[in-house]
Amino acid sequence: MTTTSEYLPSIADIAVPGPFKGPLSYRIEPGQTPEPGCRCLVPLRSRQVVGVVTSVRPASTDDGDNLKSILRVLDASPLLSTDVQQLAQWVSRYYLYDVHPAYMLALPAALRSGDTAQLNDEPVLELTVAGRHLDSDKLKGRRQREALALLQTLDKDNQPSTPALLRARGMERTHWKGLIDKRLLKQRPAHLVPGVPKGQLRQEALVLNKDQAAALKKLPVTDFAVQLLEGVTGSGKTEVYLQAMQRTLARGKRVLVLVPEIGLTPQTLTRFQQRFQDSLVALHSGLTDKQRTNAWLRAQAGEASIILGTRSAVLTPIPDLGLIVVDEEHDASYKQQDTLRYHARDLAIYRARLLNIPVMLGSATPSLESLHNAQQGRYQHQQLQQRAQGQKRARLETIDMRKQKQEHGVSERLLHRVRQHLEGGNQVLLFLNRRGYAPSWFCRQCGWMSDCPFCDARLTYHRGRHQMLCHHCGHQEQPHQQCPDCGSTDLTPLGAGTERAEEALASWFPDTPIIRFDRDSVANARDLEQQLSRAQAKGPAILVGTQMLAKGHHFERVTLVGIIDMDAGLFSADFRARERMGQLLVQVSGRSGRGDLAGEVVLQTFHPDHPFFTPLLEQDYPAFATQLLAERQRSGLPPFGFLACLRSDSAYPQRAEQLLKEMAQRLLAEPGIRVFGPLPALLSRRAGKHRFTLLVQSHQRSRLHSALQPLVADYPRQQRHLTWHLDIDPIDLM
Ligand code: ADP
Ligand code: ZN
Ligand code: ZN
Repeated sequence: MTTTSEYLPSIADIAVPGPFKGPLSYRIEPGQTPEPGCRCLVPLRSRQVVGVVTSVRPASTDDGDNLKSILRVLDASPLLSTDVQQLAQWVSRYYLYDVHPAYMLALPAALRSGDTAQLNDEPVLELTVAGRHLDSDKLKGRRQREALALLQTLDKDNQPSTPALLRARGMERTHWKGLIDKRLLKQRPAHLVPGVPKGQLRQEALVLNKDQAAALKKLPVTDFAVQLLEGVTGSGKTEVYLQAMQRTLARGKRVLVLVPEIGLTPQTLTRFQQRFQDSLVALHSGLTDKQRTNAWLRAQAGEASIILGTRSAVLTPIPDLGLIVVDEEHDASYKQQDTLRYHARDLAIYRARLLNIPVMLGSATPSLESLHNAQQGRYQHQQLQQRAQGQKRARLETIDMRKQKQEHGVSERLLHRVRQHLEGGNQVLLFLNRRGYAPSWFCRQCGWMSDCPFCDARLTYHRGRHQMLCHHCGHQEQPHQQCPDCGSTDLTPLGAGTERAEEALASWFPDTPIIRFDRDSVANARDLEQQLSRAQAKGPAILVGTQMLAKGHHFERVTLVGIIDMDAGLFSADFRARERMGQLLVQVSGRSGRGDLAGEVVLQTFHPDHPFFTPLLEQDYPAFATQLLAERQRSGLPPFGFLACLRSDSAYPQRAEQLLKEMAQRLLAEPGIRVFGPLPALLSRRAGKHRFTLLVQSHQRSRLHSALQPLVADYPRQQRHLTWHLDIDPIDLM
């Protein structure tokens, strides 16, 4: 006899932390109502852990009798929407990684550890009827008058007034506290208020040019499609995003915009806020845990209509998501480089397909993957041919360093040009992809160099903190006064990094502001904003920095871009190095000649005749990409073949190599699989560990996955004195 209770869900499958490939089953106790996407507190061995329910079901005979029970269901309703749950499961399958971390990617840290999903924010300020109508001029005290006037303006714009917003406008609590005492203002606790996207504009949209209009017209409003929007900086991509967003918001749907790691500045936020009345939240690594949780909850509850975020924001639950935009889609920061190595652009496309909504990928220098997909007809491809405001392309010329005198890495010719542009009242941007003062410290007597004791790499000299620093393992030491090999004191820094360039420039141009952009001078969004606003000031200035300068910021007054050194990428063993270098060259060049000023780009190189540069000198990224794609096709490399990289490391080199040898043997037995290696990694020793890599290639993705799957099942990632990991679609081959 069967009873109805046998059909009621009595078991929950729950993704829990640990080396489990799939979820574990737990018994549902009476009164508990876990649903897929809810967090639960469950026992695991002797611990209590937070897991996420992946499914609920009736018990089956396979479950056995000694299943443990759920201790507590933490969420009354699912925290993760169905599409995000599906996305997390896909991530786990596609990247061959445990399911729990895939779910955790979707949650902010506080919610991962089991905190209540509840807004924990400062109170919202609200004008009383009296406060709304009082003429602010009648108040005594200038600060109070200003505070009231500002609150009234925000109120008219239907903008919630938060203490954070007032502080951002230069007010302090003491200024508005008086208003509370006079009962012109009251405070209420912040709580989530689901909104409705409207797409109402604060600022009129621009009239699109022909290419922009074509892009917008081709992109379906409701159905799945991927559009690759290719156009140099300033060609008006953002304007196309904004208008596509408006269409979506006007239909009551929400929008997710992804930007690269360092790209999310207050400038970017302001641009979106200036256009739309709809509420917006930003999710990025610069937020505190609390801020991040609040922003996440606002997105999850549908309070925000526009969600702007970096990599992991792609897994944010967003009700009625109607459009995804991935800006600078070629940017390497979309790929997570440790633990679960996912690619946010690829997740965005998968999510759009799940939801049957459009996705836009924008770039001046699209990845070869996306270009290939476009050429195969899988993506729409729209080029924006002209700069939106009709500026000319910058001229690019090379300086042959073999024939130049140079000091601190800067040739006489470049220096002369810098001087000319500064004298014309303009700004100059100098690019150098090496931070620190000098990439090495060198003995002139015996040739000794400052090596990292733990890595197969040199220590970089950082003058600011007077330290030798390893950029691979973080090792620090005092610079030597004497050569450890020959005892000579004739030691000198070798090569130039941004710090040294800055110092040299300051001595050559003592009256010109020099604004440095690298990870040492810009640690967070606030620093970045500060440097950017310095760069906006009128008058001549020199901006000097690493690839941070190449990331979409607008430098209106730069008329000369000087690339101090980019030769390293020419001869790298990493097959992606040249793609990256070409993108960087085009991106950096794109910083000049904005506004109404024409620009020049000057490249210092010891290899001016290298064929690699030919299309780039014409600033013709498409021709450059075509050339690289042909090479990739000949060698069966991505995007023509599919690639995975296995990496192992151990203090004992033989162990690391042996593991990959074993894996290579097994992989070779599989049909349609080629392996390269194992070989010592390009950085063969890091932090005292010897590193090996094995590249696995196939022309069919499914073959690659089914060959790799058994390895993941059979070899624990952490073994005694040995760790290994799998990187599907690797970007960085170091
Ligand atoms: P991108 O995102 O490709 O760098 P933007 O969308 O930021 O380009 O546009 C660059 C500049 O050109 C901005 O100042 C923008 O306001 C302006 N712009 C964009 N599209 C148009 C247009 N159709 N008409 C006039 N100005 C435009
Ligand atoms: Zn020496
Ligand atoms: Zn090191």
